[in-house]
Amino acid sequence: MVFQDLLSFLWGLCLGSFANVLIHRVPQGQSWIRPRSHCPVCHIPIAFYDNIPILSFLRLQGLCRHCRAPIGWRYPTVELLCALATLWLWTQWTPRWGWILLSTTAMPLLLSLTAIDLKTFLLPDSLTWTLGALGLLAIPFSPILSGPLLPIQALQALWGGLAGWALMRFLAWIGERLFQKEALGAGDVKLMAAIGLWVGWKGVLVTLMLASCLGAFYGLILILGKKIHKRDPIPFGPFLALGFYFNLLFSPDRILRLFLINIFSP
Ligand SMILES: [Zn+2]
Repeated sequence: MVFQDLLSFLWGLCLGSFANVLIHRVPQGQSWIRPRSHCPVCHIPIAFYDNIPILSFLRLQGLCRHCRAPIGWRYPTVELLCALATLWLWTQWTPRWGWILLSTTAMPLLLSLTAIDLKTFLLPDSLTWTLGALGLLAIPFSPILSGPLLPIQALQALWGGLAGWALMRFLAWIGERLFQKEALGAGDVKLMAAIGLWVGWKGVLVTLMLASCLGAFYGLILILGKKIHKRDPIPFGPFLALGFYFNLLFSPDRILRLFLINIFSP
């Protein structure tokens, strides 16, 4: 068990390293894989031994080896978060290896969507589409879309995607009427469609429920801490990503049962 935990943690660190590449490159419209990583200040390529997740950051004391420019705490933080998220999925779903491989591969997409939305209020289409495509690949391995036959699972996924899109489109329309400005971006609508392909229509509802609670809580803290004004927008993508993650981890049915039991039992 210890060996497997270690393996999943290392796999998560590698994925986290890739998440950092996405966070840096996707908003600038650069390729995901080429050229090799380089320091954004002095542009000298980063050697493999300086590119080891977390360890290199510690050994270089957070500075570029060549120009001593600060690397930024975002890099080890994203790597660590990705490793923990991966470890949890892995231990939760062992031995469903197909599902583990695909759901953990979604982690760098979720983390980069989160970081980019926090910084720019945008959810790049390339990341959202890739998440949706991975969701389609995951259909045969899914413990969530548990139809007796593959075509039924595929229908559940497509129905989930459609439900996610329609629900968010509807909420965006209501939001615009109520607040006289854009309340939900087009990126949120597309992200929920991609999420629906993974978790089906029930998962869409549970994701929305969790994301709304988490987002409201976060907004309240920011307002009380006087970080933002009452009418300032907050990005919704990070909370959709987090809500979705809990669905991947526990499945919508189990989360719903937990909520219903706590609300309706004396
Ligand atoms: Zn440098």
